[in-house]
Amino acid sequence: MKTRAYAALDASTELVPFEFERRELRPRDVAFDVLFSGICHSDIHQVREEWGPSLFPMVPGHEIVGVVTAVGSDVEKFAPGQRIGVGVFIEACRECDSCLRGLDQYCSKGTGTYNTKDADGNIVFGGYSDKFVIDERYAVTLSDAVDLAGTAPLLCAGITLYSPLKHWGAGPGKRVGIIGLGGLGHMGVQFAHALGAHVTVFSQSPSKEASALAMGADEFVVTSAPDALAQHDGRYDLIINSTSADIALDPYLNLLALDGTLCIVGLSGFPVTINQELLIAGRRQLTGSMIGGMGELQEMIDFAAEHQIVSLVEVITADYINAAYDRTVNSDVKYRFVIDASSF
Ligand code: NAP
Ligand code: ZN
Ligand code: ZN
Repeated sequence: MKTRAYAALDASTELVPFEFERRELRPRDVAFDVLFSGICHSDIHQVREEWGPSLFPMVPGHEIVGVVTAVGSDVEKFAPGQRIGVGVFIEACRECDSCLRGLDQYCSKGTGTYNTKDADGNIVFGGYSDKFVIDERYAVTLSDAVDLAGTAPLLCAGITLYSPLKHWGAGPGKRVGIIGLGGLGHMGVQFAHALGAHVTVFSQSPSKEASALAMGADEFVVTSAPDALAQHDGRYDLIINSTSADIALDPYLNLLALDGTLCIVGLSGFPVTINQELLIAGRRQLTGSMIGGMGELQEMIDFAAEHQIVSLVEVITADYINAAYDRTVNSDVKYRFVIDASSF
């Protein structure tokens, strides 16, 4: 199936128009026209090899929504005309402990949506493209009522914050801090608020305060102000670091209450150093979390639809991708770039 896309051909030049073939439908495959594809900071890290060597050519994109055009003979969940979403992985082994527990995002034999090879040894291409083919098991259904452009970022940014918020019990009576109000962070604020937690945003960008409060934040702390953080010491049950950059974690460990958790989801690619005493003194936990499993992904999509949660997006055409990358790196997007796939 001829597919039009944008690809990075190496780590140092701009993304360019690119064409390739999607596979023919297997019995459990679904083909769909991509309508919108979000730009995640992970796309940029991988295109620019900030996490180590990447596979090129690379068609990034793992926040993909569209409309089904054809289904294989054994497909049960989808029919032509139905809305569909695909996130950060397209296959898993289906039999390891993680897969059996519904935590297929942690399957060590899983296949990512791009920057990896499939079982046949072919490079797989992601969502910056006008067509997609996937096994129905690794796609979610989207209701006809939701705004599709605003829903695309849920497939990565949304689930990456929803999963740790649920796992560490964000809810009434809990204080939650979100570090960084970017694509991930702005989904976290909305989900933590909808779950009933008290939410504080820690941001280096004073210009984001009004929108943070409108999204449901109870407090907004500008991190560059002197002593901004110290006044909040010991108050938080859960803090999620969603920044893309290498930031000092000690000031945030200090903000945790007894038994509080600092969860890292932002992956700068740099090693971190912490003062161990800050963990020991308050029996605090430092941990991480990666996206979510397929069951939780559908749960999050349905929760978002019920609570009318969408990403705040700036819809762009494909020829703006390179400029959008630079603006994202400069924290100059409110709050997610989403590509209109008709422009491929
Ligand atoms: P993004 O939209 O660029 O947002 C990152 C935010 O971090 C910025 O908006 C900014 O927020 C803050 N920030 C940026 N540079 C900073 C600096 N030098 N110092 C302090 N804060 C800074 O990125 P994203 O798409 O949300 O992704 C965030 C990170 O999560 C990336 O590293 C990405 O690879 C990773 N990620 C992880 C997972 C996972 O499963 N764990 C999934 C998706 C993405 P303020 O302006 O508010 O300070
Ligand atoms: Zn992502
Ligand atoms: Zn597995």
